[in-house]
Amino acid sequence: MNNKEIPYKIYLEESEMPKQWYNVRADMKNKPAPLLNPGTHQPMTLSELEQVFCTELAKQELDDTTPYFDIPQEIQEFYKMYRPSPLVRAYCLEKKLGTPAKIYYKFEGNNTSGSHKLNSAIAQAYYAKKQGLKGVTTETGAGQWGTALSMACSYFDLDCKVYMVKCSYEQKPFRREVMRTYGASVTPSPSETTEVGKKILAQHPGTTGSLGCAISEAVEVATQTEGYRYVLGSVLSQVLLHQTVIGLETKTALDKYGITPDIIIGCAGGGSNLGGLVSPFVGEMLRGEKNYQVIAVEPASCPSLTRGKYAYDFCDTGMVCPLAKMYTLGSGFIPSANHAGGLRYHGMSSVLSQLYDDGLMEARSVEQTSVFAAAQQFARIEGILPAPESSHAIRVAIDEALKCKETGEEKTIVFGLTGTGYFDMYAYQAFNDGKMSDYIPTDEDLKPGFDSLPKID
Ligand SMILES: *Cc1c(COP(=O)(O)O)cnc(C)c1O
Repeated sequence: MNNKEIPYKIYLEESEMPKQWYNVRADMKNKPAPLLNPGTHQPMTLSELEQVFCTELAKQELDDTTPYFDIPQEIQEFYKMYRPSPLVRAYCLEKKLGTPAKIYYKFEGNNTSGSHKLNSAIAQAYYAKKQGLKGVTTETGAGQWGTALSMACSYFDLDCKVYMVKCSYEQKPFRREVMRTYGASVTPSPSETTEVGKKILAQHPGTTGSLGCAISEAVEVATQTEGYRYVLGSVLSQVLLHQTVIGLETKTALDKYGITPDIIIGCAGGGSNLGGLVSPFVGEMLRGEKNYQVIAVEPASCPSLTRGKYAYDFCDTGMVCPLAKMYTLGSGFIPSANHAGGLRYHGMSSVLSQLYDDGLMEARSVEQTSVFAAAQQFARIEGILPAPESSHAIRVAIDEALKCKETGEEKTIVFGLTGTGYFDMYAYQAFNDGKMSDYIPTDEDLKPGFDSLPKID
């Protein structure tokens, strides 16, 4: 331990902000399995990928060997508008819990999109602009990604077409209007504007949509409209790369005060914030320099790491995207209707899947009522109203801190607080009214999803 007093908030100087992203794949002995062409089952080539993605991003996607990528100057400048994000010492929460543990959280909710997603949105919009494209298409579920992307596109004067899962489009009109304010066009998915949308509507009339289905529509429009490409807010290795700005800032801040974490915790949907937070630390583990306990937290109702299979799967319902090897519940999996807390994607980043399979990371699943209880406790003592997604990490951070209380261990816990929850007040309302319930899928419930996995030799 050192004698420096640790402030409530550790901020970095602008000059201390990362100038490069860190590609953890370069240090992995077991590389993540390559993306496969869904038709031929051969590894995707650059020329195939760049028909869907911006060329520079496709190169990042395929690059397993370059450890650092320079962050272009214009992206660094945009980052300065809302970064560095604070690393907060949760003194008040520690006191309330009566734990000897030291708890820190990296807060990514201090921008209008309300989450970490802007870190990758601005990078993706930048590369699209540099390539001379007219615009990009994407999907959004709850709306955080669509919001972040619409902000990034308006900054670079790019057109932004968002396919929004229909039930969210209807239930979250405010997010939709934020996107439109930033100039994006927002279409409820499935829609009649695409072939795949029409097909899904014919098969499932009245469906309220899913992320996988919105992805298929966005990809179709991108590949069939001149001057457009598709961009994605999570899961892909390029997104995880951009999100390492979170982990790099965290590490610099901790190093400034000589703090070494014991446990690093993040919520896991597609894996981008967790991957970004832990990459620099996992890199040290991979190089044999240090050891940390890394914990991914996922909903018990969408348990891709804890109960999924490590297999090649479709990334989307329409089966138009490349196949990725990942921990997955199957692209046919849909979480039960009472699931409120986000993190509903069926698969997990192939980088994190490999790290998990190699034992460098653990995973825990938590039930949503316990997640909202943690969210409420955190809001009341630390002041920030957390996103339900982020609250998965809060749950496990509190659980670990309470274990320290029993054992007397003074562990240092760092967790990622990915965003704020102002647009999730229906879920908070259900919790406050005592109307929120938990549903853990049975093995029987998971079977159709597993049955939908493609057969790859
Ligand atoms: C999208 C989102 C997540 C989950 O996405 P990952 O790619 O797993 O990081 C978590 N928290 C918030 C606030 C989000 O918006």
